[in-house]
Amino acid sequence: MASVSYQINVQRGWSHCFRFLMVCYFYFYFPSDIFLEVEDNKGTEEYRGYCRDVFHTVIQETLRPLVDAMHNGVSIRCSDGVERLCFPVLCQYIADMEEQVVLASIVKGWCPKCLAPTGELEPQGPRGRISVPPRTDADARNARRNLDPSDLREQGYHVNETFCADYPCGGIIDSLGPDLLHQAAKCFWDHLLEKCIKPLILDYWSDQKKVPERRVLAEIDARFSIMPKYFGLRRFTKGIYNKQHPWMVHEYRAMMKVILGVLAGICPKEGMLLLREYLIINYLSQYPVHNDTSLGWLDGAIDTFWKILRNPKGSFVHLKDNVRFKDSVITETWAPSKLHYFRHYAECVREKGTLTSYSTDRTEIWHKILKAAYNRSNKIPDHVNKFIVTYVSRITAFRIRVSTLEFDVASEDGGSSANGEPDRRSLDSDSGVEEDEMVTMEEFEEDSISTLVSWPKKARKGWPKSANSTESAIGCIGFRAALMKYFLQKARRQPNNTNGEALRSVNELLEILDPTVWVHNCVSLRYSASNPLEKHLSLQSKTDPDCVKEYIRCAGHDSQSRRDCVLVYDGHKSVRTASTMARRKVYQLLMLFQCESITLEGSSIGVGMGREGLALVQEFSVGPKCDANTGMYSLARTEKVEVISIESIERGVHLIPKFGGLLHTLTRIKRVQRDTRDSETGKIMKQSDINAFHHYERFFLNSWSDPHIYNFIW
Ligand SMILES: [Zn+2]
Repeated sequence: MASVSYQINVQRGWSHCFRFLMVCYFYFYFPSDIFLEVEDNKGTEEYRGYCRDVFHTVIQETLRPLVDAMHNGVSIRCSDGVERLCFPVLCQYIADMEEQVVLASIVKGWCPKCLAPTGELEPQGPRGRISVPPRTDADARNARRNLDPSDLREQGYHVNETFCADYPCGGIIDSLGPDLLHQAAKCFWDHLLEKCIKPLILDYWSDQKKVPERRVLAEIDARFSIMPKYFGLRRFTKGIYNKQHPWMVHEYRAMMKVILGVLAGICPKEGMLLLREYLIINYLSQYPVHNDTSLGWLDGAIDTFWKILRNPKGSFVHLKDNVRFKDSVITETWAPSKLHYFRHYAECVREKGTLTSYSTDRTEIWHKILKAAYNRSNKIPDHVNKFIVTYVSRITAFRIRVSTLEFDVASEDGGSSANGEPDRRSLDSDSGVEEDEMVTMEEFEEDSISTLVSWPKKARKGWPKSANSTESAIGCIGFRAALMKYFLQKARRQPNNTNGEALRSVNELLEILDPTVWVHNCVSLRYSASNPLEKHLSLQSKTDPDCVKEYIRCAGHDSQSRRDCVLVYDGHKSVRTASTMARRKVYQLLMLFQCESITLEGSSIGVGMGREGLALVQEFSVGPKCDANTGMYSLARTEKVEVISIESIERGVHLIPKFGGLLHTLTRIKRVQRDTRDSETGKIMKQSDINAFHHYERFFLNSWSDPHIYNFIW
């Protein structure tokens, strides 16, 4: 694109008792092509130096009024009514790697945050990683004033001063930070899958085991295509290698949620461990709250990641021995700058808080207007620049005009949070809230998360029906017996029910009772989105109290219909091992329904007025501990079918079939397609229409499907 836009975020400092935040957006449009057309020295270092000077001078002049305030302060009336003299400091700057390098005026390939030499950003000594001094604005200033150009270049600096050279404190290098979008998310495909994992898999299968490459990739695609559906999970119905055009970042994120389950049995152990460490880094970097323990985990995962990847005896370094991968970039010193940036995550959290805002997701959205302008132009180089400037000026003028209009909007109640309760976060001061905090901590002591259930207004077509007719309609013999058993067990658990012998047997109840049943296709669940890690680390909750809302489906009873799986907390279960799954059960839904409530007290039996939310479920047995390669619990389908209360469901879970070894999936799909082939029309079932729950007995409990379950089940 002809114009370059840079966005500077300027945060204001904070005093001990309040925090004042100011974020400014500045746009600079440099129509560089206009210069380039008349400039024939553009390949020279002098010309590039001149461009850098122009660039920094423009920004410096634009921010001049702020620099005065940085030196002399500016008087601001704060929210507590007191007027204070405040000094703005350039605090946080969000940008991708290329922009960071330009703004910090450092040489491409060097790290903007440390002085590690280019080409060896992760220097290893005999005792592990050698620590490298950080790069700061003060050092940069000293170096530019005292060193000659060749020495400067050895430290990765250009001679050109940055726009913030005369700022009294801080500067652009100090304010640079990670970019989760282009690092944790985008490097997953660009570096990890394409340069490390795919060559490793192909080296193992197509060169050592002589399986053709296309069969290996087809197997991976087949596994993606029959992945069971789940709320919020993208399905790759044609796989990921089948498609020729590049994937987008949100699609990489979707792949990350299932990749370990897909590659189990195909990828050698080393690759699985590397992937796992990468996913751990990705999830930990997105934590909304951190302490030294969690940052220790993050640093540990980064160390392990590099150890596995650059192990001198490991497979990744030896990929080059294979003629096909002789161009492999992985060596004992390989560390691309975007992956090396992980090293600065922990220090960045310690300095400025968690990384949730450190992503160019927030700033790239402003490129939309430029892209829209480019798309609307005739795309001829001579015209496109002018068109973009006119278009953007017009839109900007319109926005300014709209922002000056006065709208009659009812003011919101500032002291309340979304749910109408007083906003506890506003009490974030140093005294007077200790009791509140104690209450909060006690609430967290509960083992199970509380979940709210909402039913749809209408039942499935054809219902309500009696339990008897429902049993024959869904073809599940034993439904009524399971229902009666549920009511009987519930009555036995009632504390006031002393006359246990008087309760009847299931068979007796079957003869007497035939309650009405409303079958539904889905329910919505809400549970707190707060990070369960807080409880584990005994941190005070500072996260947004918003809820996660998800839908769980149980849409029918034929082999095609989607029937989700759920996690249920069982406080009565005897525990042999201490794990997050020790007191939990996993069920697949067979039917979601409401039933007339039944009271069994002593010998009296009654049908109540209300309805009770229930689910007919089939149980999976859970393995005692996580699988060593994937970090997921193993599940096996059992024959046990029962009725549970919908209230006991904690949340939905995604299950990934255990696909087995290479080519198992392709063979299985062919067999299913052959078996289900329509004898009259000869129609073959589409690969992505195959319901994996019908064709697999063993599964993994996907603990990578969203941040909540990652922190919940481990
Ligand atoms: Zn660095």
